[in-house]
Amino acid sequence: MKIEKIETFAVPPRWLFCRIQTDQGIVGWGEPVVEGRAEVVRAAVDVLAEYLIGEDPLRIEHHWQVLTRGGFYRGGPILSSAVAGLDQALWDIAGQHYNAPVHALLGGPVRDRVRVYSWVGGDEPDQVADAVAAQVAAGMTAVKMNASGRMSPLPTAGEVAAIVARLAAVREVLGPDRDVALDFHGRATAAAARRILPELAPLHPLFVEEPVLPEHAHLLHDIVTCSPVPIATGERLYNRTDFVEPLRAGVAVVQPDLSHAGGISEVRRIAAAAETHGALLAPHCPLGPIALAASLQIACATPNFLIQEHSIGIHYNAGADLLDYVADPEPLRILHGHIRAPQGPGLGVTIDEAAVRRADRAGHAWRNPVWRHDDGSFAEW
Ligand SMILES: [Mg+2]
Repeated sequence: MKIEKIETFAVPPRWLFCRIQTDQGIVGWGEPVVEGRAEVVRAAVDVLAEYLIGEDPLRIEHHWQVLTRGGFYRGGPILSSAVAGLDQALWDIAGQHYNAPVHALLGGPVRDRVRVYSWVGGDEPDQVADAVAAQVAAGMTAVKMNASGRMSPLPTAGEVAAIVARLAAVREVLGPDRDVALDFHGRATAAAARRILPELAPLHPLFVEEPVLPEHAHLLHDIVTCSPVPIATGERLYNRTDFVEPLRAGVAVVQPDLSHAGGISEVRRIAAAAETHGALLAPHCPLGPIALAASLQIACATPNFLIQEHSIGIHYNAGADLLDYVADPEPLRILHGHIRAPQGPGLGVTIDEAAVRRADRAGHAWRNPVWRHDDGSFAEW
């Protein structure tokens, strides 16, 4: 079998898909994207495709090595995301070739269903109790929300009180047997995180995500030790080496993104590194159906998996949503807060190619907002 053709599709709301065609009729799909930089990743995929054309798609690990190391310069979000999408598509092809779900090729399923969480509250959460109640009514067992909107570098007593009050309101709706995770989005300084986390501890969040920016990984150890709240990070880390410092700092949860951190091949290694450090895996995935399908395969093959993010109904999905691009929504159906272990060959989803080609003609130019503090200076989003 040889790779014949590689195409990319920029589809709303903000995604990029790739399609790898083989000379034996098997087609694999991947999702190589950095949100807000889709056209840059698209160019990277085009360059990497030069190498893949004519190659045997079943030599996934060999191609991963060449694609990540063969260009001399390596790592970072653009290249790692381009490789991630191509890697997903190669695993999709391998699964179809061997007529097995990808998780079967990774050693077989270690669970029957995958726990997922939903987002509430958008970029600047305010009144979230009703949104949480709706998720509970829909059967969800866990939600996640941003801790706050724009945050002062050293938040006022009022800002901190608002974060705690919002979490308390959500805990009230959820009760003791469901979970809420809180995403700081790197908006806090380390000093602010040390001040806020002890106040959150009595409300028992599942984890607090990105309490500091990824470039401040060297400060994570202090944050881990300042409070019993489990710390999560990793959506802006791109390979197993990037996770060394957070894991040594003692984070409880790592959150590699299947479309940013080198795909299935690398995330399974990140999961093993986390297992070595007693940490759990909760892949980041505010993306499309292929990234979610790849995440589910990893969830089924990973003993130290905790929970999976999904984007159905997320605030970013304006104009198009995750299920718009699959021929059959059943493999991604959420029941009682879980998705059943994938059964179909490859990634286990059938992409609606006509819908994808149609959507690509419209394309998108999604950019994240740029926030400012009251004095006009840049604020983390
Ligand atoms: Mg996040």
